[in-house]
Amino acid sequence: MQIEFRDLKKQYLRLKSQIDNAVLNVLSETSYISGPQVKQLETRLAEYVGVKHCISCANGTDALSLVLMSWGIGPGDAVFVPNFTFFASAEVISFEGATPVFVDVDRQTFNISTKKLEESILEVIKEGRLRPRAILAVDLFGLPANYSEIIQLAKTYKLLVLEDAAQGFGGSIDGKKACSFGDASTTSFFPAKPLGCYGDGGAIFTNDDDLASLIRSLKVHGKGRDKYDNVRIGINSRLDTLQAAILNEKFDAFVNYELDAVNDVYLIYNDNLAGLVEVPSIPKGFYSSFAQYTIKLRNQHERNQLSIFLRNEGIPTMVYYPKTMHEQLAFEGIKLYSSLSTSSELVQVSLSLPIHPYLESDEVLFICNSIHSFFRTYID
Ligand SMILES: *Cc1c(COP(=O)(O)O)cnc(C)c1O
Repeated sequence: MQIEFRDLKKQYLRLKSQIDNAVLNVLSETSYISGPQVKQLETRLAEYVGVKHCISCANGTDALSLVLMSWGIGPGDAVFVPNFTFFASAEVISFEGATPVFVDVDRQTFNISTKKLEESILEVIKEGRLRPRAILAVDLFGLPANYSEIIQLAKTYKLLVLEDAAQGFGGSIDGKKACSFGDASTTSFFPAKPLGCYGDGGAIFTNDDDLASLIRSLKVHGKGRDKYDNVRIGINSRLDTLQAAILNEKFDAFVNYELDAVNDVYLIYNDNLAGLVEVPSIPKGFYSSFAQYTIKLRNQHERNQLSIFLRNEGIPTMVYYPKTMHEQLAFEGIKLYSSLSTSSELVQVSLSLPIHPYLESDEVLFICNSIHSFFRTYID
């Protein structure tokens, strides 16, 4: 059996006639930039998430940058970010000239540890060199971070909260949707993300009217009345009409059955793997959109051997992530403010298994059986 890590082809074939029609409509209407499909998508996503504004842009990295830019975050500012995430979460902080403060994560959820977060905030305040400005929390692998505690800390220390839900769209806490937890929240429509388009795309969500209009200006060359009236320095970051048209079709499938389908895959995995390896556990009241299904092995050797064994069985796996932020060359020399031991362990023991809405239960069982076979013969 050959299994796909994330089967974009199966999804396309299921939705082919709708998507083909939507694309052909854009081609013949010729509103390739800022066509009506873009506004339509923004309205639908804002309503789904439950916030006032959704502002689409070119990708999830720009979405984060646009928020930091709007908040005027720059040199001398500290932004707290998990040490275990995709590089872009921390990159955007340095790109604005501010300083990322890497915070260790919770071993169970892979998300920022609120205990370590408070320790880091206090250390930065005590040192007095940087001005603490914001917490950039990440909803890793589809699971929202612990926002009740994060927002409490933000209030206590007067920090802004930016929710990076690039992997988290569709998740929720007690029914409240991901992309609604931050003072601003962002997502990515990169093809492999929970709600992906057929290229790059991203969006920002907020209830703040002033922030929303500032971002709408910044993303189109700092426009004032129109793009030939420029009132500030901005960037060019728009979602193509084609991508919005594709997303409008895919969004229906995402809401109607894809989220349920990935959660079914998660349950089959957990039923068959619990006790053998450390499986994901979703805290009470939380719902994950399962951008990734990530298990933990006992050590790096076991993780690597399992990955090779599965590859020989036709099962692709990925290591998310092979390096922490503080181990990245690009961040060499950055000052650390608290222990990063959990994230340093996770890069050695984590392994992500195939998961997507079109993975059949017999495929999931085949993967589980292969993992059982591995452990029947594996010796440390
Ligand atoms: C993918 C991703 C991003 C960046 O999104 P792009 O659309 O690829 O720019 C940011 N943060 C996290 C956590 C991501 O997974």
